[in-house]
Amino acid sequence: MSVRLRVNPITCEGHGLCAELLPELIRLDDWGYPLIDQPDVPPELLAIARRAADACPTLALLLEEARDMAAEPTTWRGSRAARARRERR
Ligand code: SF4
Repeated sequence: MSVRLRVNPITCEGHGLCAELLPELIRLDDWGYPLIDQPDVPPELLAIARRAADACPTLALLLEEARDMAAEPTTWRGSRAARARRERR
């Protein structure tokens, strides 16, 4: 099973929080929007990547899991607790 990192460019507002939390995989362009050079998340960074996805204020940072190439990816849109936190704002 591989996990890939992706940003939804429509909902991303360029807060840059993701690059602060996961600098190993995300850097910012000149306008503060995230760039992901290597979307495959190594197992040792998976917990931090999930925390970064949870912290994204617009749920634009996505983790997709695919068990094999034929399977549809499952998208991580943050934990239930993170979504509830955002909805209270
Ligand atoms: S934290 Fe979310 S909204 Fe902010 S730059 Fe990263 S992906 Fe975009």
